[in-house]
Amino acid sequence: MGEGELLSAGPRSGRLRLRITAAAETIVRGGHPWVFTGSVQKQNREGTAGELAVIFDRNDKFLAVGLFDPHSPIRVRVLHTGKPLNIGTEFWRARLDMAVRKRDGLFDERTTGYRLINGESDGWPGLVLDRYDTTLVLKLYTPAWLPRLGKILGIIRAGMKPERIVLRMSRNIQQDTREAAVLPHPSPHPLGEGESLAVGARIWRDGEVVFQKRADLEIGAPVVFLENGLKFEADVLRGQKTGFFLDQRENRRLVESLARGRAVLNAFSFSGGFSLYAARGGAKSVTDLDLSAHALESAKRNFTRNEGDVNVRHCRHETIQADAFKWIAGNSGRQFDLIILDPPSLAKREAERARAIRAYGKLAADGMKCLKRHGILVACSCSAHVLAEEFFGVVRQMAAKAGCNFVELQTTRHAPDHPATFKEAEYLKGIYLRFADNQQPADRWQSGGLAPARLAIDSGREFRRL
Ligand code: SAH
Repeated sequence: MGEGELLSAGPRSGRLRLRITAAAETIVRGGHPWVFTGSVQKQNREGTAGELAVIFDRNDKFLAVGLFDPHSPIRVRVLHTGKPLNIGTEFWRARLDMAVRKRDGLFDERTTGYRLINGESDGWPGLVLDRYDTTLVLKLYTPAWLPRLGKILGIIRAGMKPERIVLRMSRNIQQDTREAAVLPHPSPHPLGEGESLAVGARIWRDGEVVFQKRADLEIGAPVVFLENGLKFEADVLRGQKTGFFLDQRENRRLVESLARGRAVLNAFSFSGGFSLYAARGGAKSVTDLDLSAHALESAKRNFTRNEGDVNVRHCRHETIQADAFKWIAGNSGRQFDLIILDPPSLAKREAERARAIRAYGKLAADGMKCLKRHGILVACSCSAHVLAEEFFGVVRQMAAKAGCNFVELQTTRHAPDHPATFKEAEYLKGIYLRFADNQQPADRWQSGGLAPARLAIDSGREFRRL
């Protein structure tokens, strides 16, 4: 691989060299971490997944170095721009250190689950590292990491001193693992009969425990960790993302502060993250609604885990396994004081954007119909393809259509342990509306949904019918 070589080495060094379009040059210089296939103008030779690629500018000066991936539309994920430097152990150590320092002081011992590395935005393109108590979960979104994974794991072990490291890989890499792991480290001997392709290479598997300090630790049991003093479990081996939705922590705190005395509906509840905060905040009842029986079982266990808290103990908890879009649209009998809508991404591709915006609007409108007087709606979107203003816009529009006064309490974006340093990395947004009309949204809708003729915005960002 030659990793750790001086990147200023001349053209005869065999280093993979690229020239990109002028427009892409400007984008990379501006700090954007992706070079798309269409922007590559010249390449000195074929490259393999995970090889370091050096990008030279129009004047043949070093512009950037990044991880090459011949199979991805993102051909290079930039690691560094500016002056040439060594990409070796010291580089990775410094990168890890930077990410850790960025989180200094964010969490006390009441929070032992959070994100340590958030991909590109922490200088580790396509790689995520989450902490769940003494377990670390490393998740890869590109096979470009595979050839140097052993080295990276060593650096993480030395720097973080975890008891266990679990490897997770996004679905797109899982088929590539074998090839990507083998190609850069070809077996020194031709394969003989009965020999596996893994000779001389390491084959990595999704959900594999790649490091374990104590052999007696039970593998497969969910890991229990703390988030603001609440106990949660994470299925680090098989669960969605890395086992828990750590990105919603700050929104959960807000929900806790709004929940006192309320009947709460947590739609797309997963393992009850928002629900436990609402319960601790004094909610009268919490209803978890999710399609997944597994998620709801996990939510029940999380409630049991936190029964030491008197508010959690006194909160009525129920679970409903159903399609939340349909359940909310069809619900006429149940009314809630606080509704959280946190669906999975509704736009996986740019082409799905317009449809997703409409779907977010419909979901929010249907949710509003289930709200009691003075009810609060918390609507979230985790689709990077739907921009924050588009999402906020459609939710506000639906609230205005419902014909009630409402106060926009807050909008939220990324939590500090989930930094987003470029547009495509920004996916999470939330909007909080409190309906302030003396007529409840449901009545309005039933009486024909009187749309306001004109809307005015006052200083408190309150929308009033004129
Ligand atoms: N709010 C959660 C995260 C939600 S992730 C938290 O704070 O942890 C999205 C959830 O939506 C997943 O649990 C998934 O099982 C669920 N889901 C996906 N499609 C659904 C549907 N049509 N109806 C109900 N739940 C659905």
